[in-house]
Amino acid sequence: DLVVVGSANADLVIGVERRPAAGETVLGSDLAVHPGGKGANQAVAAARLGARTALVARVGDDPHGRLLLDSLSSSGVDTAAVAAGGAPTGVALITVDPSGDNSIVVSPGANGRLAPEDARAAERVLRSAPVVSAQLEIPLETVTEAVRLLAPGTRFVLNPSPPRELSAELLAACDPLIVNEHEARVIAGGGPLGDSPEEWARALLALGPRSVVVTLGAEGAVTAEAAGRAGSGDPSAAGRAGSAEGAEAAESAPPGVEVTRVPSVRVDAVDTTGAGDAFTAALAWRLGLGESLPAAAAYAARVGAAAVTREGAQASYPTAEEVAAL
Ligand code: ADP
Repeated sequence: DLVVVGSANADLVIGVERRPAAGETVLGSDLAVHPGGKGANQAVAAARLGARTALVARVGDDPHGRLLLDSLSSSGVDTAAVAAGGAPTGVALITVDPSGDNSIVVSPGANGRLAPEDARAAERVLRSAPVVSAQLEIPLETVTEAVRLLAPGTRFVLNPSPPRELSAELLAACDPLIVNEHEARVIAGGGPLGDSPEEWARALLALGPRSVVVTLGAEGAVTAEAAGRAGSGDPSAAGRAGSAEGAEAAESAPPGVEVTRVPSVRVDAVDTTGAGDAFTAALAWRLGLGESLPAAAAYAARVGAAAVTREGAQASYPTAEEVAAL
């Protein structure tokens, strides 16, 4: 149902009273090691929802790599296209203070060695699903190569995080481009975005992607695409386009562009780590099932909301039953 191209990291987390200043040593809690990385997070989130999911990634031939492969497999993710070796598994060194503020150092390791030839080696996997999603914790040229390998009609979903300016080729492939406010500003290259999320979405759409989703944390999300597109492909999707639960077309859209506000679900947020990854995975999966962009985004908002009600990234991801019960 979904193929994810992206990173896999071991998150090494230590709780501290105070994050250390330059030259300072502080004592912290016992070390906790969690499977993470945006690619692995997306794959686990989709698999938890019931999607048949494969990950194209690279880990080290080391204990962290084996930890990641185990956690992916036990979540039901197909790891046949996860290469091992070439560099140590990527790690994120995370210190968290009692207020929840953190300092993070990421060593990309094997993620930085996921090469265009790895994408070519995974061509069969990349052509096996209706949707392929990616993020930017791996080399940009590998993401670009994966896009070039896609079968005609395969939908490509990109969350450009950490953000960089994108080539016209990559932008044109995104359907949708999924960004938060910070990512939107980097992608726009400092150009004017406008005063409201609806305007940001329209400004981003003008840069060339086929559709755009702006995520707004507790405020939900905004989708934008050419008007009338929802009807192409799956005829039943056209009828659903306007009926996304609670979603309503914004009136400020100029003719030709359909901008839709997707409300969030009110929850008690405990830990927002990995919520964006869960949102992206859920959205990509639902698009592959033939849902319209606003309907898929409304579902993804429920998944993102469920993910913030529990600690952790992958550990916080809901099943389809838990989403339905929300
Ligand atoms: P990112 O982590 O990439 O910045 P967001 O924080 O915008 O992404 O979260 C992604 C999605 O998860 C949001 O669009 C929303 O649907 C959901 N979400 C995130 N935080 C909350 C929250 N506090 N309450 C409800 N939903 C949330």
